[in-house]
Formats: sequence, C-alpha cells, structure tokens
Amino acid sequence: MKTIAVLTSGGDAPGMNAAIRAVVRTGLHKGLKVMGIQRGYSGLINGEIFEMTHHSVSDIIQRGGTILKTARSEEFRTEEGRKKAVNILKAFGIDGVVVIGGDGSLQGARLLSKLGISTIGLPGTIDNDLAYTKYTIGFDTALNTVLDAINKLRDTSSSHERVSIVEVMGRNCGDLSLYAGIAGGAESVIVPEKGFTEDELCRTILEGKLRGKMHNLVILAEGVGGAEKLAKRIQGVTGIETRATILGHIQRGGSPSAFDRILASRLGAKAVELLLDGKSSRVVGIRDGKVIDDGIEEALAMETKFDDELYEIAKILSY
Ligand code: ATP
Repeated sequence: MKTIAVLTSGGDAPGMNAAIRAVVRTGLHKGLKVMGIQRGYSGLINGEIFEMTHHSVSDIIQRGGTILKTARSEEFRTEEGRKKAVNILKAFGIDGVVVIGGDGSLQGARLLSKLGISTIGLPGTIDNDLAYTKYTIGFDTALNTVLDAINKLRDTSSSHERVSIVEVMGRNCGDLSLYAGIAGGAESVIVPEKGFTEDELCRTILEGKLRGKMHNLVILAEGVGGAEKLAKRIQGVTGIETRATILGHIQRGGSPSAFDRILASRLGAKAVELLLDGKSSRVVGIRDGKVIDDGIEEALAMETKFDDELYEIAKILSY
C-alpha cells in the first residue's frame, strides 16, 4: 500500500471534512501518498483526482459540507461505469480507497472492492440509518440543528397557543426525529418505524390543551411525511391553529459538533490503519463507545433496530 485516495459521496453531512482531514493526515504520517477524488464516484469516473498535502486539509475541521464536493452517479451503478472507475484508479496508481458516505455510497464501495480495489467505508450521513454503527458522522450535528429550530418554534407556538408540526429528515429512519423529540420535549413523535393514527394524534392534542398545555409540538419524520396535509387535518378536527415547518436542507449544514469531529477523526484514522494492515472490503463505525470494523457485506445486510425503549420514554415524558 503506497497510495490511497479518499472521496465523499451521496448526501453531504457535517463532519465529512473532519473525516477527510483524518484520512489525509494519518496517511501522510504513515508515509503514504494521499489523493483526493472530487465529486464522489462521478468525479472518480472522470478522473477528477489530485494529490493532497497536510495543507490541503488545513482549516477545514470546523467546516460543514465537504471540500471534496459530493455527487450522485448513475454511471457508477452500472458494471461498465465501475470498470471505468477501476481503470482510472489503476492509472493513478491508487491501491486503496476510503469512501465516506451513506448506505448507497457504501454499497458502491462494496462493489468496488469486488473488482479488486481495497476499499474501506466510513459512515457519513445525518440519517443514522446504518445498523452496524451506533452513530453516523453528521447525525449529532443535525440533531443539534433540529433542536435549535425546535426551541425557536416552541417560543412562537407557546405565544400563539398553536400546534407546531416539524418535519425532520432521516429518510426511512426515525432516529433524528426520536432524539430531537426527546431533547426538544416534543408532545408527539411520529416515525416510520411506529404506526400512528390521525385520530389518536388529534385526541392527544386536545387532551393536552385541556390539561393546560400552552403549545403542542409534533415531530414528524420525513419517512412518514405530509406535514402540510397533517396540519390542515389537525386544525380541521381540533379547531386549534396548526402550522407545519419542513426544516429541509438546513439540517445538512453547519459547523460539526465536537462529537462528530471526534467521531470522524477516530474513524478516519482507523480506515487508514486497516488499509495499511492489508484489510479491504470493511466499514468502520462505533459501538459501545469503541471504534469497530466489520465486513462490508455483513454490515450492510444488518437490519436497523429502532430504539423502542427511548420511544416509550419520549411518550411518558411528553404527558
Ligand atoms: P445519503 O444516505 O446521505 O443520501 P447515500 O450514500 O446513501 O447518502 P446515494 O445517493 O444512495 O446516497 O448513493 C450515492 C452514490 O453511490 C450513488 O449516486 C451511486 O453512484 C452510488 N451507489 C448507490 N447505490 C449503489 C449501488 N447499489 N451500486 C452501485 N453504486 C451505488
């Protein structure tokens, strides 16, 4: 292993820069040549590759987004596209690749490793939807962004005695909603992993009002969706003014939290160590506070487990 490369792919997440920095600086420390691939798999296929130095990653640990840019590539989903990618990697003398991204990007890494390229995957997504790791890079920062928005919405909903529905990202995973609901003291948390009925929700809101609740905060996961429609329905049934806020892409931005910077630094360093140990086709993550690595195939096949206990706590505390 003499030359390694790093790329970011799929949706961006705060902390990706800290991960890039960790890969580059650990690689250089170990005497490797480190290349940066721009725009994910799309840039890889197009040969958008440059050599990175200590200085290339200066002043980025605190920045959201990714200095390498990110993209989605339809071409890489094809066998032909992936063969092109392998030829490019060979042309640049790259022996190992660190892929930072979500589920789709790591699936791409899995297929790349099947074509003989040493690949290590790092979980970079705000969705926290990768079962093998307790946390993904970007989740904690996004959670704090959502919390900040909830705090502000709570002020205005209390003043107007409104119901506020906040739609939170996370694709089909309800973690961001659940954690934000607990931390933000939401009255209801609606996630794809759990059923809900509009009638039950309306009843909870009316009962809360009777008990003297000044506002009612409903966190609605993107995987369930339909915030505007739900707001109209609640207002129609309860007669209480109801507003929907879809937080959208602000959840992807911002300076990464200390937790995400530390997680990204630890995982980035581990990825390089694995490559140097001759390992391939693995993903790194965190479980019980420890950095772990798993076979990419098994890790991606694991089913996500929703935290039912935390969901119950959220319910009890929202009364
Ligand atoms: P996020 O979860 O934050 O959206 P992601 O990594 O899951 O990130 P995707 O759009 O699913 O985002 O994947 C990013 C890119 O990875 C795709 O554009 C494609 O190039 C590649 N990719 C995804 N799935 C596959 C697959 N099954 N086979 C090959 N390549 C894939």
